Amino acid sequence: MAQCPVCGATVDEAAARATTGLTAHGASETDPTKGTRQFHEGKWYYFDSLECRSKFLAHPETYAKD
Ligand SMILES: [Zn+2]
Repeated sequence: MAQCPVCGATVDEAAARATTGLTAHGASETDPTKGTRQFHEGKWYYFDSLECRSKFLAHPETYAKD
């Protein structure tokens, strides 16, 4: 399981992948209720909701920590 970098919730990576289609700019989800992901600085980040992904995209430097 992956962890949402914004709120700390666990995210099912398989479900997030299964409902995510790639676009030229990263990820575009078809069913955000199952989780979503975003490619950032060379790695995938998984989110439990679009709200969390939006927060991440607004301030990635705040959340993208190893
Ligand atoms: Zn979250």
